[in-house]
Amino acid sequence: MKITEECMTCGTCVESCLVGAIVESGEIYVISEDCTDCRVCVDTCPVDAIVD
Ligand code: SF4
Ligand code: SF4
Repeated sequence: MKITEECMTCGTCVESCLVGAIVESGEIYVISEDCTDCRVCVDTCPVDAIVD
């Protein structure tokens, strides 16, 4: 999974990830290699910025 440039850094998705794979990196959010591709976070993003 990855976060696209559509991300407006609202932080909503961070709490949804059960394995803590969404982390801040400077002024953007990224998905780390801890991601299990469960897709739980996808529907939490108001701008559909989380994609396969
Ligand atoms: S797909 Fe699942 S494991 Fe990966 S970042 Fe989203 S919620 Fe976390
Ligand atoms: S919910 Fe979407 S817009 Fe908000 S930080 Fe996560 S990826 Fe970015």
